[in-house]
Amino acid sequence: MKPLDGIRRSKEAGKPVIGCFPLYPPLELLHSMGLAPVVLWGLRGPVHDADRHIQNFACSVARRLAQVVIDDAEGLFDGIFFYNGCDTLRNLPEILQEGREELGRDALPVFRVHVPMVPAEQTDASAYLRNEMQNLIVCLESAYGLSFSEESFAESVALYGSARALCLQLEEAVARGGMAFSDFCDTLMSANFLPVEEQIELLESKIAVAGEERALEPSSRVVVSGILPPPPAICKLIDDAGLTVVGNDVAAFHRSYARAPQEWSDVNDYYVRFYRDHFPCTTLLYSSDARFKALTSMVEASGADGFVFIGEKFCEYEYFELPHLEEKLKEKGVSVLPLEISIEDESTAETYRTRIEAFAEVLAGAEATVSGTS
Ligand code: SF4
Repeated sequence: MKPLDGIRRSKEAGKPVIGCFPLYPPLELLHSMGLAPVVLWGLRGPVHDADRHIQNFACSVARRLAQVVIDDAEGLFDGIFFYNGCDTLRNLPEILQEGREELGRDALPVFRVHVPMVPAEQTDASAYLRNEMQNLIVCLESAYGLSFSEESFAESVALYGSARALCLQLEEAVARGGMAFSDFCDTLMSANFLPVEEQIELLESKIAVAGEERALEPSSRVVVSGILPPPPAICKLIDDAGLTVVGNDVAAFHRSYARAPQEWSDVNDYYVRFYRDHFPCTTLLYSSDARFKALTSMVEASGADGFVFIGEKFCEYEYFELPHLEEKLKEKGVSVLPLEISIEDESTAETYRTRIEAFAEVLAGAEATVSGTS
């Protein structure tokens, strides 16, 4: 299914569609108020109008998101939500409104939240975030004539909790060799654009047909990291090279669904905990110290020998971390394959074949040396 088809499905259900900028918007809250939130990453297609507004050395996430929201000839979006996810996204709403105006599209209501990027142990900014969430609720109620209730919110939390648990189960299916990584990425990217109720159906149907555990090739185990999963053709190259993705540190996947509060007192408290205890991400600046520990645990628990970094070209958050991470992983005997993906590279995946195959051979060679079979 194409991303816009999924958004159309939400639109047809009669709910106002809120295009959420990545990375970790308050989906449960928006859903609980009768809105249809969709995270705008993993979009495909050419970028033209947006390039008149955004420099072409911005990441593909921002350029494609801008293109879809500016273009929006079908009037799919009823509002935009964003928070201070990263510098590239921060000023985008104003730019998008200008682009829409040029194309004769209506201005969209914009909702924003500022998530304090300070470590909780250093400064307690929870009161500030509680206030931000409360303001958001008031703005949403006023814009759409909807009302918030804690009861509906708890129901939405339960739905998203089910979807998150299913995503983790599907990750496990990939790790045990019961599902191809390419199938997994395709499923989760499609699910992202569906209403959460349909996401659950899709994920359950995939879990039902996932295969049993199979013996993995020695030293074929890798962790994949990045903002987005690799493009489909590169996922297939990873599968074809005999690599098994036993750990997932992709922001659109594991970082998004790995953790959510299990207990909370009200909606504001939920999001204080949600952001504070989130799986560490390069964009959640206060979590940067916890990143290395989380990744080391993932590598050790999964028995991975390799780490494939899918670099989103021009994403400074990810590239600032990589040199340190690479050095530390190598000290632990984990080989690292950094691949940089730009908006233009997605149709030229074959150029990555040699590097991925060579990496798989290096891992296999290292294993043979260690086990004395070479
Ligand atoms: S890829 Fe990086 S720079 Fe681009 S939107 Fe995501 S976090 Fe921001």
